[in-house]
Amino acid sequence: MHNKITTEMSICQAENGFSLDELVKKLADSFENKAFAEILKMNLQLTQEVLMHRIFNNSSSQQCCPDGHLTLNGSFDRRIRTSLGEFKMAFWRVRCSKCGKSFAPLAKFIGLEHYQTKTHELEKLVVEAASGTNYRRAVKDLERDGKLPVSFHTAHGWVMRSDCDEIKISPQTVGSAPIQIMPDGTGFKGSGIDGQARKGDLKVVIGISQQGNIFPLASKAGATWKDITDEWDRNQIKFKDGSILICDGELGLAESFADYATEQQRCHWHIKRDLYHMMYQDGGRYKDSKPIQDALAGVLAIELPQDDFQKVSEQEKSDIEERMEKAELAIDKLIGYFDGCGYSTAATYIRRAKYGMFGYIRRWLKWGLISPRASSMVERVMRELGRRLKKTAYGWSDKGATKIARIILKRFTNAKAWEDYWQEKMNCVGNVVINIGNYKCFSQNLGQ
Ligand SMILES: [Zn+2]
Repeated sequence: MHNKITTEMSICQAENGFSLDELVKKLADSFENKAFAEILKMNLQLTQEVLMHRIFNNSSSQQCCPDGHLTLNGSFDRRIRTSLGEFKMAFWRVRCSKCGKSFAPLAKFIGLEHYQTKTHELEKLVVEAASGTNYRRAVKDLERDGKLPVSFHTAHGWVMRSDCDEIKISPQTVGSAPIQIMPDGTGFKGSGIDGQARKGDLKVVIGISQQGNIFPLASKAGATWKDITDEWDRNQIKFKDGSILICDGELGLAESFADYATEQQRCHWHIKRDLYHMMYQDGGRYKDSKPIQDALAGVLAIELPQDDFQKVSEQEKSDIEERMEKAELAIDKLIGYFDGCGYSTAATYIRRAKYGMFGYIRRWLKWGLISPRASSMVERVMRELGRRLKKTAYGWSDKGATKIARIILKRFTNAKAWEDYWQEKMNCVGNVVINIGNYKCFSQNLGQ
């Protein structure tokens, strides 16, 4: 379909001269504030006329029943907002004489959804602005950049209603190999009751593929770990055998994920740090705990060969297994020492942590897969998430924090998947070419 648009522009300028700058600025203003939206609307109206003409001349591909015919059936007005401005126009409706169904040919033609009042490109702009910076400032920035000004209230409503935050655990993201599962939590400044700030709690689970790709597996505010795995359960999420949970010693955490990971690894860094606090509770001080922390760190640090597992000799494998067994005996001795010296909190802590101390070795021996001994990757993600959440400077409800955290997480961990999601929604595939004078403008793939 070929539409030709002619617009009229009248420019009044003073007889005694004007500044070039003023001309440039006024021209820019009139395009940003008016011309773009007008051209957009005009082109859609033209398209609608062509579609209707085709329908009534029986040359349309938009048919309903083969032996029915379409008749005009009123119209509806729709206000649509875009980054080029907003416009309101009438969408004509037709009705099938056979089955009685009615539809708006133009809406169908341009893929406008039932209650859609804004373009996806504008939604993306607002969501990205809102999740990247101060919410209120984001709205102002859009206005300053000549993008359609929307109120803070409207922008917030759009973000809350957008489904761009949905975390899909598909074979495409997770891959077909075992993965590393890393859960962690962070606090955030929540919306308070009666003006009192509330400390919110946000839980996040990220996954890391064998190739090292990071992807979000879950994110929820005001939820327990079990809430998260219950949801996985409902969605029948499973990870390949050989997947490993890497986490700190939070009570109930490892237990909640037991069904999802064949192995578990307690973060060595946390074990060392927590030991100080546990001994402190039992009356131990720095001078008592420091040598034990250091000795423990030495026992835990069994390095695995980075070579391909197949190339590692059987001798070396059994050496490592032996070292692990010896280390476990040393841990038992340490527990005995704690029990004997009145460090009961520390003893309980180490007893609980023991099973998860060498998950990375058991996994390597059984599956030939290398995994980290610390949860530093998820902590890096959490620090970034916390920093960005704080930057949005908004007292979040749990629902809002869940939403915005997921958006930040998706953009931060896997920017390509984020762009792909919008590409699919916006469907810019080269179906529009615009010529202005000698200048030709193809719709380009925005993701590249
Ligand atoms: Zn029909």
